[in-house]
Amino acid sequence: MNCSARTPQVLCELLRTQHPIIQAGMVWCTGSDLVVAVGKAGGLGTLGAGSMYPDELRDEIAQVRAQWGGPFAVNVPLLYPAVEEHMETLMKERVPVVFTSAGSPRKWTEQLKSAGSTVVHVVSSAAFALKAEAAGVDAVVAEGFEAGGHNGREETTTLCLLPEVVDAVNIPVIAAGGIHDARSLLAALALGASGVQMGSRFVMTQENPAHTRFKQRIAEAGAGETRLMLKQLTPVRLLRGPEGSFFDQVAEAEAARSDSDVMRSLLGRGRAKRGMREGDLMEGELEIGQVSALLNDLPGAGDLVQGIVDRYRSFRTEGMAPGFHWDALSQNPR
Ligand code: NDP
Repeated sequence: MNCSARTPQVLCELLRTQHPIIQAGMVWCTGSDLVVAVGKAGGLGTLGAGSMYPDELRDEIAQVRAQWGGPFAVNVPLLYPAVEEHMETLMKERVPVVFTSAGSPRKWTEQLKSAGSTVVHVVSSAAFALKAEAAGVDAVVAEGFEAGGHNGREETTTLCLLPEVVDAVNIPVIAAGGIHDARSLLAALALGASGVQMGSRFVMTQENPAHTRFKQRIAEAGAGETRLMLKQLTPVRLLRGPEGSFFDQVAEAEAARSDSDVMRSLLGRGRAKRGMREGDLMEGELEIGQVSALLNDLPGAGDLVQGIVDRYRSFRTEGMAPGFHWDALSQNPR
C-alpha cells in the first residue's frame, strides 16, 4: 500500500479543491446555492441528481456555473429511473467530479472518466470498495451505519468500516457517516481517510433547500431518534416524526414482521420529497444521520466549512477536544 498516493493533498488535487471536505449529494437536500457556497469556501459541493428530473439537473448545473467557475460534483444513484439521461448530461457538461452510488460502478466509470470526470463511488463494505477500485474509480466514499438516508445492509459503523476499506484498497478513501466537525474530521484522517463527506451537517445550513420544518425537527432531535428501517426494500436511516407518523407505521409493520409487499405499499411513492422538501413530518420520510442529535444550529455553508478548517488548524496550537492528551499512554508508568 502506497500511503503517499492518498494523502489529503492528493485527494484535493484529484477533486481540485482547497480542503478535503465534501458536501454529500443528498436527495431533496441540495441545490446550486449550497454547492456554490461550499465551493467558494474551498470544499466540494455536490448536486444530488437522485431527486432531480433531467431538465432540473441541467438547470442546476447551469446555475452553479453562472455563479462559480470552480469544481463541483454531481451524485447519481445508479438505480435512478432515467440514469442514461443523467449520465449523458454529465458527460456533455464535463462535470468535474461524479459520485455514483447504489449500484455497480462497472457500467459508467470508464465512460465518465473518458469524458474528463473524476469518478468516486460510495460503498458500505471493503468488498464493494475492491469492486469499485477494480472498475477504475478514482476514490471511494466509505459510508458507515451512522449515515442518514440510504445505507448498507451490513450495519458497519464508520469506526470499523473505515480502517477496513483503507487497508483493502490503494485509492483515496473518503470517510462518511457521523462526520460533522473538526474533531470527527481529525478522527477520520487518523483512521487513514484522505478526506470526509458530510451530509446531515450540510442539511442544517442556510443555503440548504430542505424544508424549515424538517430542519426544526433535526434541531430538536436527541440521541436514539433515528433508525435504519425498510431493510427488506432499500435500507434507509429515518428520523422519528410525531406520534403515529410514517416512522411509527414502519416500526409497527416491521415489529409485526410484515412481508415486502406490505412494506412496499406502506412506502408508496414520493415519501422522501414529502418529508424533506415539503416538510410533511407526519407522512414523509425524514432522512438524516445519527449525528442529528448533535446538530442544532443553522450556519451558512461557507462559514461551516471555514469554521471546521479554522478549528482543525487550531488543534496544533490549542490542543484538541477537551480532555484529549497526546501523551495519554505514558501518563502512569509502572
Ligand atoms: P420514489 O419512487 O418514492 O419517488 C420518486 C421521487 O423522485 C418522486 O418524488 C419524483 O419527484 C422524483 N424523481 C426525480 N426524477 C425522477 C424520474 N426521472 N422518474 C421518477 N421520479 C423522479 O423514490 P424515492 O423518493 O424513495 O427516491 C428518490 C430517489 O432517491 C430515487 O429516484 C433514487 O434516485 C434515490 N435513491 C437512492 C438510493 C441510494 O441508495 N442512494 C436508494 C433508493 C433511492 P415527483 O414527486 O416530483 O414526481
